[in-house]
Amino acid sequence: MQTRQPLVASPNGAIELSNEEIARYSRHLIMPEVALDGQKKLKAAKVLTVGTGGLGSPLALYLAAAGVGTIGIVDFDVVDESNLQRQIIHGTSDVGRPKVESAYEKIKDINPNVEVRVHEEALTSENALEILDDYDVIVDGTDNFPTRYLVNDACVLLNKPNVYGSIFRFEGQASVFYAEEGPCYRCLYPEPPPPGLVPSCAEGGVLGILPGAIGTIQATETAKLILGIGEPLIGRLLLYDALGMSFREMKLRKDPNCPICGENPTVTELIDYQEFCGIPQANAAEEENGVPEITVEELKQKMDRGEDINVLDVREPHEYEVANIGVRLLPLGELPQRLAELDRDENFAIHCKTGARSARAVRLLQDAGFEKVYNVKGGITAWSEEIDPSVPKY
Ligand SMILES: [Zn+2]
Repeated sequence: MQTRQPLVASPNGAIELSNEEIARYSRHLIMPEVALDGQKKLKAAKVLTVGTGGLGSPLALYLAAAGVGTIGIVDFDVVDESNLQRQIIHGTSDVGRPKVESAYEKIKDINPNVEVRVHEEALTSENALEILDDYDVIVDGTDNFPTRYLVNDACVLLNKPNVYGSIFRFEGQASVFYAEEGPCYRCLYPEPPPPGLVPSCAEGGVLGILPGAIGTIQATETAKLILGIGEPLIGRLLLYDALGMSFREMKLRKDPNCPICGENPTVTELIDYQEFCGIPQANAAEEENGVPEITVEELKQKMDRGEDINVLDVREPHEYEVANIGVRLLPLGELPQRLAELDRDENFAIHCKTGARSARAVRLLQDAGFEKVYNVKGGITAWSEEIDPSVPKY
């Protein structure tokens, strides 16, 4: 039955199952691939899920239901309304609460036998080795590159398997990075993408159901590693396309020159991952700061006084449909071809969702010879928060 060495040694008499647990896990116990010995391994196992968001939700729920004895959860975020579309471990009544709190309660409700260890903090280069060291399997449910490289490097240094998943719009991928037996994340992606090039789910969106598919694949791989059954995704990258409803697979090879798991590693301790990834937030702020700005209050006053100012919305039509402030829509992508529609002598205030795209539009107009162009600071989001709460925030 076993195809590989299980991560958790057979606990034999060291761990017993109560009658309640035997009844609870009966569908496992009747399968020879799990059976009593496997269920005890699951109970002895310690799994850390990094993040309790889209991927962390199904992961933690299924691992708890399946009887993983100790589940660690790392998160410092609070539940936001915009999380509920996909982060099914949190409910409507949890909005505003720390995510680790609602995740803790949900896990305990599904299976009170689980020991839940709460790490209400951001995973950093300072605390990662100490936190991860206690666990048998690390499951990466993060949504940003610095934490992804941090989790990878910490797992390589501690020699632990890193069950990876990532999602965007309608596509997801999963793999198991385990440097002892195969490639790591850096073997696949040696360098992070330039900041801003790969949009996050917050910028590009994600189908709410997608993390359910990828997170359950990660949970499946985690259980297989603990039990030592089946073929793990080590050395394979699974690609999932929800629109085409198809799976593809890519073979991954260990890179002998990998800076952390290669033959002559140059990374021998955790580094500054914000710096390594180019600190996207700081760059975005810089981009916005470089252009003349107008606040939403100033804009409102000008509009109320009937001053001569053209307000342009450079978002996409489908965003305009969700929320708008009744001004002219001219999507950023069409701006270069439609400059002739605008008068260079007039005043312009340009807004988008939060201010980054409109900053690019301001620069574009400046380059085209417009002199009186201002970026609306904070975009329609600031307008909704500070001027008119009836404009929905999305
Ligand atoms: Zn590597």
